[in-house]
Amino acid sequence: MNMQEYITEAEKDLLHTYNRYQIVLDKGEGVYLYDMEGKEYLDFVSGIAVFALGYHYPGYDEALKAQIDKLIHTSNYYYNVPAIEAARKIKAASGMDRVFFTNSGAEAIEGALKAARKYAYLKDNTTDHEIIAMEHSFHGRTFGALSVTGNPHYREAFEPMIGNIRFANLNDFGSVMNCVSDKTCAIILETVQGEGGLVPANEDFLRKVRALCDERDILLILDEIQCGMGRTGYMYAWQKYGVKPDIMTSAKALGCGVPVGAFMMTEKVAAQSLTAGDHGTTYGGNPLACAAISKVLDIYEEDKITEHVNEVAPYLEKKLDELVEKYDFIIERRGTGLMQGLKCDRPVGNIINCAVSKGLIIINAGADILRFVPSLIIEKEHVDKMIDILTQAIEETECA
Ligand SMILES: *Cc1c(COP(=O)(O)O)cnc(C)c1O
Repeated sequence: MNMQEYITEAEKDLLHTYNRYQIVLDKGEGVYLYDMEGKEYLDFVSGIAVFALGYHYPGYDEALKAQIDKLIHTSNYYYNVPAIEAARKIKAASGMDRVFFTNSGAEAIEGALKAARKYAYLKDNTTDHEIIAMEHSFHGRTFGALSVTGNPHYREAFEPMIGNIRFANLNDFGSVMNCVSDKTCAIILETVQGEGGLVPANEDFLRKVRALCDERDILLILDEIQCGMGRTGYMYAWQKYGVKPDIMTSAKALGCGVPVGAFMMTEKVAAQSLTAGDHGTTYGGNPLACAAISKVLDIYEEDKITEHVNEVAPYLEKKLDELVEKYDFIIERRGTGLMQGLKCDRPVGNIINCAVSKGLIIINAGADILRFVPSLIIEKEHVDKMIDILTQAIEETECA
């Protein structure tokens, strides 16, 4: 079958939950993707902040293949070495004390919320605790994660959500104070909002939220699923300000392509929350997924991936700032590190479609923001090439 025939079949067989771009991707190499017809694309999406190391990073495939030859899955009723090693390395990278492996980001959020509720339950034996989440946040599509996602459009048809969630505004501590009560058990936020428009939580806000949590024994949950794993130039974005969460979530780039996630917590929370029988998963933490995490974390350390982000990100920022200068319809640049956005005064779908047709894969965040979440191994030459194709796409769609 040719590419168009596959697309036609997909539209008959797959549930239509995505409006897909009309390409069938076939293979990847470095920071490039290739479709079935061999057309090359410079990839500035990286599977939505997943392929931090690009495609076929030296040593990664070999580590997975070696694990496939040994053992892909056990149950969590038994120990396996890749999970033990991956947990040790995640602890070192995150400064957290205990790790629970999941299969996805949403599942990590579910676990984090359950841990927070259990912690509160053990304190006062009641079940009417509240969680504060942020407007414009995104935490995933399962019921718990959706319940704390600050986008009514995603929630509406699926009500009722889990109860006792209140929404405050990121970087508006007063709005958090308006939501807090003696029933608040957790505050959850993305250290840098991803889907909601590439908005970093600022230092003052994070410090005040942390102090509030300390004062009232509220748990701070930081969702680092998109902004974590080096993307901001820090292994985890909160490390920039040293505002440490009680519980945090990681996924996306954690396995660099193998479906995996994790939630981690401090010993204080671990000692007073989930215990045997409270939570579980069949696949989570299986040897194949953990071999990926383990290898990824080795590569980050050996090849100084976050340092590379700090070298190349200022160049990307400069180039994006030039676009803001040049085009009136681009309002501002947002984001940090290799997690950047251009906020426009109009929908960006035409620009993206045109860029894709010219061999550049970029994506939006909301209707009017161009999002840039490339592999962390990109070089300045890739930034130049991206800017070149993007400029052509802008000229053709917005300036013709
Ligand atoms: C993608 C994402 C999730 C959900 O992860 P899935 O693996 O798609 O379930 C949660 N939080 C943030 C910040 C994300 O970017």
